[in-house]
Amino acid sequence: MQCVTSTAFGPAELLHRLRARGTAEASPITHVERVPPRSGRPAPWPTWTDPSVRDAFAAAGIHAPWEHQATAATLAWEGKHVVLATGTASGKSLAYQLPALSALATDPKATVLYLSPTKALAADQLRAVARLGLDGVRPATFDGDTPREEREWVRQHARFVLTNPDMLHHSLLPGHARWGVFLRRLSYVVIDECHTYRGVFGSHVAHVLRRLRRAAVRYGSAPTFVLASATSGDPAGAASRLIGLPVTEVTEDTSPRGGVTFALWEPPLLPQSTLSLPIQSVSPVSSPPDSSSVAVPGSDALPDLSDLPDSSPDSAADESLFVDVELPPIRRSALRETADLLTDAIVAGTRTLAFIRSRRGAEVVASMTRRALEEAVPGLGERVAAYRAGYLREDRRAIERALLSGELLGLASTNALELGVDLVGLDAVLICGYPGTRASLWQQAGRAGRAGGEALAVLIARDDPLDTYLVHHPEAVFGRPVEATVLDPANPYVLGPQLCCAASEAPITESDLELFGGPAAAAAVQALVEEGALRRRPSGFYWTHRGRPDVDLRGTGGAPVAVVESSTGRLLGTVDQGSSHAMLHTGAVHLHQGVSYVVDELDLDDAIALVRQEEPDWSTHARDVTNLSVVNVRSYVDAGPVGLFLGEVDVTNQVVSYQRRRIGTGEVIDTRPLDLPVRELRTVAVWFTISPEALVAAGVEPSDFPGALHAAEHAGIGLLPLIATCDRWDIGGLSTAGHADTEAPTVFVYDGHPGGAGFAERAYAVASDWLRATREAIASCVCEAGCPACVQSPKCGNGNNPLDKAGAVKVLDTVLTALNTKPV
Ligand SMILES: [Zn+2]
Ligand SMILES: [Zn+2]
Repeated sequence: MQCVTSTAFGPAELLHRLRARGTAEASPITHVERVPPRSGRPAPWPTWTDPSVRDAFAAAGIHAPWEHQATAATLAWEGKHVVLATGTASGKSLAYQLPALSALATDPKATVLYLSPTKALAADQLRAVARLGLDGVRPATFDGDTPREEREWVRQHARFVLTNPDMLHHSLLPGHARWGVFLRRLSYVVIDECHTYRGVFGSHVAHVLRRLRRAAVRYGSAPTFVLASATSGDPAGAASRLIGLPVTEVTEDTSPRGGVTFALWEPPLLPQSTLSLPIQSVSPVSSPPDSSSVAVPGSDALPDLSDLPDSSPDSAADESLFVDVELPPIRRSALRETADLLTDAIVAGTRTLAFIRSRRGAEVVASMTRRALEEAVPGLGERVAAYRAGYLREDRRAIERALLSGELLGLASTNALELGVDLVGLDAVLICGYPGTRASLWQQAGRAGRAGGEALAVLIARDDPLDTYLVHHPEAVFGRPVEATVLDPANPYVLGPQLCCAASEAPITESDLELFGGPAAAAAVQALVEEGALRRRPSGFYWTHRGRPDVDLRGTGGAPVAVVESSTGRLLGTVDQGSSHAMLHTGAVHLHQGVSYVVDELDLDDAIALVRQEEPDWSTHARDVTNLSVVNVRSYVDAGPVGLFLGEVDVTNQVVSYQRRRIGTGEVIDTRPLDLPVRELRTVAVWFTISPEALVAAGVEPSDFPGALHAAEHAGIGLLPLIATCDRWDIGGLSTAGHADTEAPTVFVYDGHPGGAGFAERAYAVASDWLRATREAIASCVCEAGCPACVQSPKCGNGNNPLDKAGAVKVLDTVLTALNTKPV
């Protein structure tokens, strides 16, 4: 296979070529940010640096630290817990290596523990530390792959142990007695990529770290924590919640970097179509419930015409009974747009990585690109592939190698490629849809750029309110970050199991309760005593069972569902149980490496989905039903006609049916019932209520309440990731013109994880910012009656019906005014 990279276009030429796709009056590019190259600001080695460490870095070609590295390192050396939150490739490792290695050199007994979210990153760090060749450091990884016989050596002799939170939780802490010597001498705990510890997983990790702190104290040490984070809002606050101690932040990046041309791209509107409708169905186009007759379905489909009333033979013959109606404008799908840009880039010889948010999307883009390339240059289609989690490890390694060698010119990948995999030499990165966090956005964009060269990054907006907002508000992408990493160590579904783990390691004393969360921990311990899991004795609370508690840090509710090809018994991959009802129900179309499979049977008991290869010309879309009741109110704001609340709720959800839609036209072929169990969730929600009088005064007719509230709910969920690091899929919502528990028109937005993960709390805390951005996203959308870029939701269990875009703006204005803010 020959490698064609010599003809590669530079970022400017490539951008010019891509720009040429737009028309003169409507360029898809809404903004171009030239992130200029920056020269670094070096600082002298801190005076406390051990000479052997300084010499080792010098021998490795590092002659001085950058200013931010020296600042963070010195804080850590002085014993202050510190978080360094700077961009990708800003040299965060040196900031913790410097104090950690100096400590090891100065105190021959000291030890260091390094935690990373992935094994690949830990292996990378091990190589970096080992390469320095410092005497007596004896770095070693300790993870699931470490052979039994080596583990004893690591415990006894390694002084720089690299591991991950799962290993800490499952092995090191339960076996703390055997780690006693290591723990007694523990001087630093390094937490790399700490922004990845968010949501439920982050809440678990927060307790694992508290257990580590308790074990350290038990053996007589009080290590200093050094955390490395991607840029985010309030890094010190997030780091402090994670470790449970005050943390100082360092956020100014003084490292040099290459220039990046960053374009924001909004797929163009498709030519407006007109449609002949029978005259009796024309008038209510913009008002529910009939608006569904011209509603635009999921983001990749053309207008859904299936719900149009069939014309009777009589009227069909009579032209006068028809009238032409303009369909709402729709944009080209981001997936198609990305596939086209990827095709152009590869034809131009540019090595390009396209990041796609969903696994399915990555498969679709890869296969569309393959087809287009094959048409352009036979054989070229072979040089693009899909890459995502859920592939088997061998397949992933083979793809990585092919991209590095140039055998592959393009890759359509999910964020599975984000961390740990070292890829250099890419010219361009296409980001199909905002990846949910700024950290991910810059991590993905940072994949482009050869050493010292210029790179191109393009963010292609999906039909999504947050994406629409961002491509029209570049300051939200390039200005100060507002999103914060959220986690909630007080989540009872995390706290209870973690206290059991803690008790099984050593009895929990009264003073430990403060460490684990104070009153919340005391209440949880009490409940565990009543359940019989813990027993109170004078010396503390004891774990009563023989074995260890079975607690999964990534607890997503049950084992992942295995996708198995029935004819061959081959394991294709896995899907987490939470998504399995919607993705792998019987009859669902499932894509793997661009190959389409149909699910014959989903066996939830055995967590297995049996599939067969088939390429039907339809896609499948699950429908669900949700109910919600309020359990309690934790906090509220009384703003006259408007109330804002935070509290616990019970949610029941059931996937009840699925639609088959024709690929290409989006025509609904049929809706088929499903027999799946109801799933119940107790979680945390934020909600607002508005008095009916205030809504009417704002110009919303009572008949439009449901559509207006529903539209506000969808957009509100869509904009939540702007303020908290969550995925729209982590969040659920419910809106109603009258709820039994609130007795008023209400919009609920809830955490999709048992016990809550901090998302609703964050939304409550910055409700005005969140709702103002939501209002802005809806109002700035060019569509007339609502589209996927503003108020329609791809996960609506109601088929996006009813929705009232104009009403949603009035709802949000009313709420914002009452909350004492000025609507934009
Ligand atoms: Zn719209
Ligand atoms: Zn909905």
